[in-house]
Amino acid sequence: MKKLPLHWQIIIGLILGLIYGIIAANSGWRTFTTEWISPFGIIFINLLKLIAVPLVLSSLITGVASLSDLKKLSRIGGKTIAIYVGTTTVAVTIGLVSVNIIQPGRKVPDQMKAELQETYEKDAALKSGSAQNIKTRGPLQPIVDMVPSNFFSSASSNRNMLQVVFVALFLGIGLIQIPKDKGKPVLDFFEGLNEVVIKLVDLIMIMAPIGVFALIAQTMNKVVGDDLSQVMELLSALGYYMLAVIIGLIAHGAITYTGLLITITKMPLKLFYKGIAPAQLLAFSTSSSGATLPVTMECCEDKLGVSEEVSSFVLPLGATVNMDGTALYQAVAAVFIAQTLGMNLDLSSQLTIILTAVLASIGTAAVPGAGIIMLVIILEAVGVPSAGIALILGVDRILDMMRTVINITGDASVAVIVASSEDQLIIPKK
Ligand code: ASP
Repeated sequence: MKKLPLHWQIIIGLILGLIYGIIAANSGWRTFTTEWISPFGIIFINLLKLIAVPLVLSSLITGVASLSDLKKLSRIGGKTIAIYVGTTTVAVTIGLVSVNIIQPGRKVPDQMKAELQETYEKDAALKSGSAQNIKTRGPLQPIVDMVPSNFFSSASSNRNMLQVVFVALFLGIGLIQIPKDKGKPVLDFFEGLNEVVIKLVDLIMIMAPIGVFALIAQTMNKVVGDDLSQVMELLSALGYYMLAVIIGLIAHGAITYTGLLITITKMPLKLFYKGIAPAQLLAFSTSSSGATLPVTMECCEDKLGVSEEVSSFVLPLGATVNMDGTALYQAVAAVFIAQTLGMNLDLSSQLTIILTAVLASIGTAAVPGAGIIMLVIILEAVGVPSAGIALILGVDRILDMMRTVINITGDASVAVIVASSEDQLIIPKK
C-alpha cells in the first residue's frame, strides 16, 4: 500500500487534535491532556529545536566554504535583506489597508471592552514589562547582540540563532582563506555533520503527526480550558479583528508572494505550495518559525530545488529577522486597539506604524507569542496605551499560529527568488 504523503499525515494529526481538544474541553479532561498528551508535543518540538543549531551551523559553514568568492556572498546577502525588508513593508501596508477598511475596533460591544480589559489586565502588564526591557536598549544593541563573546553560550539557546549565523559565516569565510589541505578536515567534519542532521530531520518527521496532534490538543486545552461557550463569546466579539488579520495574511500570501514567484521565478505555484506544506503545517502547530526551521530548510532544498548554499543562508536569517505575518498582525492590532479606545490615528501615525512594525518584526524572536511583546513598542510609538493589548490577548494564540505560517512562507519564497536569481534553483520535474 502506498504511504500517505507527509502533509496529509500532519493534516490528519491536526484535525484529530482539534476534535480531541473540543471533546476534552467539554468533558473536563484538562489535567489528563496536560499530563498524558501534551508531553508528546513537547518532545517533538524539543527534537526540532535540538537539531536547529547544528543544522544552521553545519549547512551554513559548508555553504559559505563552497563559495568561490566573497563577492558572491555579499551579493546574496544584499539581495536577501533588500527583499526581506521590501516584502515586510508591503505586508504592514496590506495590514493597514485591511484594518482601515474593516474598522474592527468600532464593532466591539462596550460591555465586552470593559470585560476584556479587566480579564487580561495582569497579563497585559506582564507583556508591557518585557517590552520595557527591550526598549531601554541603545539603537545599535541589536548589532552588538549578533556578535557573541563566547560561541558555546550562543549555541546554548535557540534564541541566539543570529549569533550562530554570525559564527557560521565568520568560520566559513575563514575556511575559504586558508590553504585547502589545512581546511579540508574541518570542512569534511561539517559536511558529515550536515548529512547526519538532515537524516535526523527525516527521523523526527516520522513523529510529526503525533507531535502535531499533541500540540494542537494542548493549545486547545489552554485556549478553550473547560468553557467552550466563553471562547465562542470571545471569538464573536473579536471576530472582525481576527478577520482583518486573516484577510491581510491571505492577501499578502496571495498577492505579494504569488506575484513575486510568478514574475521573478519559473517556480510553478502548485509545486511551491505543495512542497512547502509540511513546513506550513508545522508552523501552524508550533507557532514558532525557529522550531520549524529544520523542516523549512528540508522542504526548500528537497521539494523546491533551492541550492543548499542559498537555503542555508537565507532561511536561518529569515526565521529570525523576516516576519511578514507578525508585522502585518502588529499593524492591524495597533490600529484595532486605537479604534477600540476611541482614538483616531492620522496618516503620520500610520506611517510610524509601518516603520516601527518593520523594525519590531525584525527584532521579534521566532517563538510563540513574541509578536505581542513587540507590539507594545509600536503602541507606545504612536501614543496608544499599551495596556490596550489586554483587548486582544484572548485570541492571540490563534492568530500566532496563522502569522507564523506566513512568516515561514515568506522565508521560503525569498529563498526561491534568491536561488532563481543566482541560477541556483533546480525545479524538480514532478
Ligand atoms: N510566533 C511567531 C514566529 O515564531 C512570532 C510571533 O509573531 O509571535 O514566527
